[in-house]
Amino acid sequence: MSEWGDGTRCVHAGAAEPVAGQPFLAGPVLAAPFHLGADDFYGRAGNPTWRALESAIGALDGGLCTVFPSGMAAITTLLRTVLSPGDVIAIPADGYYLVRTFLAGLDVQAREVPTVGPWTREVVEGARLVLLETPSNPGLDVCDIKAIAELAHAAGALVAVDNTTATPIGQRPLELGADISVASDTKAVAGHSDVLFGHISVTDEALWTELQRQRSLSGAIPGPFETWMVHRGLGTLDVRLARQAENAAALVAKLRGHEAVANVRWPGSPDDPSHAVAARQMRRFGGVFTFELASADLVARFLATSRLVASATSFGGLHSTADRRAQWGDPVPEGLVRFSAGLEDSHDLVLDVVGALDRALASPVQ
Ligand SMILES: *Cc1c(COP(=O)(O)O)cnc(C)c1O
Repeated sequence: MSEWGDGTRCVHAGAAEPVAGQPFLAGPVLAAPFHLGADDFYGRAGNPTWRALESAIGALDGGLCTVFPSGMAAITTLLRTVLSPGDVIAIPADGYYLVRTFLAGLDVQAREVPTVGPWTREVVEGARLVLLETPSNPGLDVCDIKAIAELAHAAGALVAVDNTTATPIGQRPLELGADISVASDTKAVAGHSDVLFGHISVTDEALWTELQRQRSLSGAIPGPFETWMVHRGLGTLDVRLARQAENAAALVAKLRGHEAVANVRWPGSPDDPSHAVAARQMRRFGGVFTFELASADLVARFLATSRLVASATSFGGLHSTADRRAQWGDPVPEGLVRFSAGLEDSHDLVLDVVGALDRALASPVQ
């Protein structure tokens, strides 16, 4: 498996041995109780459809995987499982906003550290868990997983990485020394904007067993049909990411020179401040980048005149989308746009985006 390329791995990871007369990917097993006498007895505790996807994603991540009904279900289960009252956790100050909201309801002390650091001994000292998010959402800043994992481990802390933006084929946090890779698969892994999903992969078998137990206890379980949809989507992750990255590169090159646009950020660009670390630890880049327009109004006019770019939150899907993050309360400039390049033809997308920016600049302010 490890000698194969990403395309082969996405199609074949975790696949069962072929059985004559059976489908390539078994359909979803829809069962609440099972006939007793084998491993599966009740759908909240275990299900063959979960195990098929867990072995696929686990193989890509290089760990033991547990699937969840959303990225937040994965992250909050991780936090509830690992943290005890009074514990200290280091979290990204610029990371996914709901994590901070959830922690506010737990009796733990959160130390907020910007993704770019400074990552000092004081930051990790006494922490039970260090949660990283790289590239961060929405800022697309990057931190050095290997260096921080060494620092955190020396202080006795566990290290988790929110790997949503990178995906399991874009970055392997466990290989870089992290103990836990957690992600929202709602984004590029499922990839079709039609399902919410999440997972946690870990290196430690005892922690994996506990996460599986916590999922069953909480009852926050993914439906087999959604699980099957994610497995189906995973097969094309490599080709989708390749087109998205190609489109992001083409758009970033054009936007850098456009008079309406400032502060274009994409870790894949050699000019980006995050590029050196990203290029060292990431295996490939994706289709998400950010840029700034002068005002919220200009973003609205840009979106109104584009024919291909949908105004939507989330990212990583087939369709190009743009999200003005300040509308959700992210502490970013009013005109900051997180753009998710879709699978359209580069030529069409560049023409549409540049044309929409030109028209937005020329149209009268409302
Ligand atoms: C979307 C996202 C989440 C939450 O995932 P859901 O599937 O929406 O619950 C967590 N972390 C990051 C970085 C995300 O982008």
